[in-house]
Amino acid sequence: MPRDQGLTPVARIGVSLEFFPPKTAAMLASLWKTLQALLPLDPVFVSVTYGAGGTTRDRTHQVVKDIKRITNVRPAAHLTCVGSSRAEIRDIAQNYFHDGVTHIVALRGDPPERTTKFKPYPGGYGGSVELIEGLREVAEFEITAAAYPEGHPESQGVQSDMEHLKRKCDAGAVRLITQFFYNNDQFFRFYERVRACGITVPIVPGILPITNFEQIARFSASCGSVIPKAISEQFEGVPSGSSEASKVALDIACEQCSGLISQGVEELHFYTLNRSDLILGIWDSLGLKFTSSPSLVGVGS
Ligand SMILES: Cc1cc2nc3c(=O)[nH]c(=O)nc-3n(C[C@H](O)[C@H](O)[C@H](O)COP(=O)(O)OP(=O)(O)OC[C@H]3O[C@@H](n4cnc5c(N)ncnc54)[C@H](O)[C@@H]3O)c2cc1C
Repeated sequence: MPRDQGLTPVARIGVSLEFFPPKTAAMLASLWKTLQALLPLDPVFVSVTYGAGGTTRDRTHQVVKDIKRITNVRPAAHLTCVGSSRAEIRDIAQNYFHDGVTHIVALRGDPPERTTKFKPYPGGYGGSVELIEGLREVAEFEITAAAYPEGHPESQGVQSDMEHLKRKCDAGAVRLITQFFYNNDQFFRFYERVRACGITVPIVPGILPITNFEQIARFSASCGSVIPKAISEQFEGVPSGSSEASKVALDIACEQCSGLISQGVEELHFYTLNRSDLILGIWDSLGLKFTSSPSLVGVGS
């Protein structure tokens, strides 16, 4: 994938989609509509997040199980170390496996509202590496882990990040999904560093279309992803929620995705925020392939 190999763009791009578990019946209905709209992208898998502090445990589980029951798409459940003992996490994992959910996105997690530094729960896992090791003891899960092209806010330096990432993969992570970023050069530099330290698993760029500039700016500030000035300037004076804002967001996302694809990236992970419009717009604008997909029957039943 590195730029200097000059790979030609691939015709077919693998895509995975991330959703959050809805809080209300109306939001759940909207999630199913979004998923239905995005199924023609033929996702490799769709994942469901686990709320900060482990607050969405039951909702995450229910949505993941329903995706498995209602669609042909492979679901992946996010699971964090926050708010649960090892025994509780093992139980959750066993239940997933029992329900046929064999793909876990294994994360350390953040404390609720990021008020405090991460502290292991009493009797809990101390971080993603321990969680991955624990999951491997429960069952033959496919495990995906997180990576940070612009560094994690708690990074102790590039070298220690690489060693930590290597430990995640040695523990059993078979794929890395990156935190969202808007600077492709930064991603490619990161990619080269990761490969240079002997990590061979796929590194899938995480794409967060800017559906609402103020909201994404808040996310960026809290997780260390930088919105380049050239991007924020494009939103200046553009009212949130306007069609002009959507057009700006679409152009930015298309430029980022086509830049990644033209340099050899074959798989993208979209942070959907449970919305389909911009992602469908990207697919359409880039001329990527849609497949026909059956309707979701019996949704929510
Ligand atoms: C794709 C993706 C999905 C996510 N989904 C969720 C979700 O569903 N729910 C949720 O609550 N959060 C989620 N997050 C956020 C994630 O929980 C936070 O970023 C959290 O702070 C770190 O999780 P981690 O698994 O990357 O942690 P870790 O890999 O354990 O550590 C994160 C970083 O801390 C530093 N670090 C930690 N331990 C060491 C060490 N021993 N030596 C050196 N450096 C170390 C490194 O910089 C490392 O990259 C997601 C993030 C990504 C990228």
